[in-house]
Amino acid sequence: MSNREAFDAVATLRDRCCDPSRAAAARVTLYVVLLALPLIVSTIVQPSRAGPQTFLALLADRFGILGFTIVCLQFVVAARLRWVEWPFGLDMLFRFHRSMAIVAGALLVSHPLLMVLDGETDLVLALAVAWPIQLGRLTLVVLLAVIATSVFRRRLHLRFEQWRVSHNALSVTLLVLASTHSLFAGEDLSTWPMRAIWAGFVTGALAAYVHHQFLWHRRTQAWYEVSDVRQETHDTWTLVLKPVGQDHVFSYLPGQFHFITFYRAGMPPEEHPFSISSNPGNPRELASTVKASGDFTQTIKHTQPGDRVLVRGPYGRFSHLLAPPADRLVFVAGGVGITPFISMLRYMRHAGAWQPTVLLYANKTEDDILFRSELDDMVYQSGGQLRVVHIVSRASAAWVGERGRLDVERLQRYSGPVGACRFYVCGPPPMMRNAVLMIAECGAGVRNIHTERFAL
Ligand SMILES: Cc1cc2nc3c(=O)[nH]c(=O)nc-3n(C[C@H](O)[C@H](O)[C@H](O)COP(=O)(O)OP(=O)(O)OC[C@H]3O[C@@H](n4cnc5c(N)ncnc54)[C@H](O)[C@@H]3O)c2cc1C
Repeated sequence: MSNREAFDAVATLRDRCCDPSRAAAARVTLYVVLLALPLIVSTIVQPSRAGPQTFLALLADRFGILGFTIVCLQFVVAARLRWVEWPFGLDMLFRFHRSMAIVAGALLVSHPLLMVLDGETDLVLALAVAWPIQLGRLTLVVLLAVIATSVFRRRLHLRFEQWRVSHNALSVTLLVLASTHSLFAGEDLSTWPMRAIWAGFVTGALAAYVHHQFLWHRRTQAWYEVSDVRQETHDTWTLVLKPVGQDHVFSYLPGQFHFITFYRAGMPPEEHPFSISSNPGNPRELASTVKASGDFTQTIKHTQPGDRVLVRGPYGRFSHLLAPPADRLVFVAGGVGITPFISMLRYMRHAGAWQPTVLLYANKTEDDILFRSELDDMVYQSGGQLRVVHIVSRASAAWVGERGRLDVERLQRYSGPVGACRFYVCGPPPMMRNAVLMIAECGAGVRNIHTERFAL
């Protein structure tokens, strides 16, 4: 693939992903229809043996059905399926996944509580109950374990990798227990339409899980070899990756990210998300720039040229190419949060497609600034289109630029009239929160503020 073809591929990808509103509306509608389907069918097709139900018992049944339907759909939402992901971005999809887990948890915990309120205290208190009810109790315990380990992961001192393994195991167990309980307890699933729907949901959930864990790799994964490990600052390294067995990397938009699984001697393989810091117009290599900030990233410096990695991507919608044009782009970066921006700027430079852009780049010290000389060169190469403002909070006495932190006054001074700007923010979570609040305070609408959180 030539550079020209790589640029064409970026343009095609941009055109395909540019307007997600119809695709997003279609997927949201499908989600709502799937949510409502079991409720509607169970209301229309009543089991022949069913007697009259009290309101509380009816509510308990409906809560159980809705909660279980959400649990099944959770597997599809979390499976990183490209068809589901692209209109929203993985970040938004995972936030939705977390919110719906709370909704499903509340519904499924209310399911037995409503039955107790309806007078069926034995369901909760009696020791000797039928096995489907015992299974229901176990389901509830597993559900609470899923929620607790997710909400309190840090307080439980669970490493992300440990949490991920336990989350997968608990979620599949929950699905199996909940589906068996619902099939054998009560009358709701005694009709064939409901059994068919249930079978469809459970099969769909398991298929999404298997696809995500084992099969989808075959379609979207590719082996790469580390061709260079470059130290950028005292704690940050750039890994350059070359495809193995093919002559070009996958097409991606500047600002997107990928998942990299490292296979290094003496270390267990681990998958981590990183923004792609390279220029998508170069089809021969990919790069990510990684800051040593935790257990795994501390080991990034031990990566050697020749190490094999598995790359999956691209993901995300944090790219200036995906938003409607604006008079000025304002990039607000903190520390290693510069990575998606450097990809966008490298793309502008290589495509000769500079746009009026202000980069407000906050760091603790001068030594933390990434790509400093390249950014200086870009300012010159852009012919005045790009302005870079470094803001350093613990600057040395020799520093001649902005000192302290980004504030509203600086934001307004450098970005100019806010109504003409489109803002992009990426950095440490507290800095991002403050930056977004300040941008909103300056009068920018939420549609003009784009963010990339370095946590899924
Ligand atoms: C979209 C995106 C883009 C990113 N781009 C960059 C980048 O360009 N450069 C960079 O240095 N960092 C980037 N990160 C952050 C990077 O993924 C984390 O710093 C890294 O995974 C932390 O791993 P750790 O074990 O070193 O740290 P830990 O201290 O163990 O983890 C810190 C936090 O990172 C997250 N995390 C940890 N392990 C994983 C994992 N396997 N999968 C997903 N999240 C995990 C968790 O939220 C965790 O609380 C990005 C993250 C995301 C989501």
